Amino acid sequence: MRIGVLALQGDYAAHRQALGERGIATCEVRTAADLAGLGGIVLPGGESTTMMSFLRGTPLAAALVRSIQAGMPVLATCAGVILLAREVRNPPQDSLALLDVVVERNAYGRQRESTVVPLQVEDAAALGSSTLEGVFIRAPRIVAHAPTVTVLARRGADPVLVRQGQILAATFHPELSANSPVVDRFLSLCGGAP
Ligand code: GLN
Repeated sequence: MRIGVLALQGDYAAHRQALGERGIATCEVRTAADLAGLGGIVLPGGESTTMMSFLRGTPLAAALVRSIQAGMPVLATCAGVILLAREVRNPPQDSLALLDVVVERNAYGRQRESTVVPLQVEDAAALGSSTLEGVFIRAPRIVAHAPTVTVLARRGADPVLVRQGQILAATFHPELSANSPVVDRFLSLCGGAP
């Protein structure tokens, strides 16, 4: 199995490393053709405004939407969650609108307020772990979600790890934590659990 990592901008190299450490083959996705034959796709953190400006109106954006609607497993982290959110606030921004959440960008403060915090796991069986840390870097906050979206972990009252079908979305950066169960959970959605 090969996992694609959207490589337009952001911390795609860290995702490739986290997957590589688990023995998973990865490739960088920059065109629609790069999506062929993938077992799953990672939408990394970075700057969602920049990523959207590279994606908007492209064959890659159309192919991403088609593939995800057709059931391709997704791990979206931080800016990747903003790309998928149905609605983006602060400021408003267009998106691929495939995940039924509303997000507010940069809701936990500026870069210097970046933090590593223990999270509350809501469903240890679904995550495969009862403990989880979150690395937050200018993270968005999920301010609303549809009933079809399951909350797997929270920071205080805020959902920070959610699942909708085959989409796993973290407002933090699991790829920056050693052995994060979030990456393993994603691989099990891809049918290639380590
Ligand atoms: N602040 C970024 C944005 O709004 C997201 C930050 C991140 O991905 N670490 O796009």
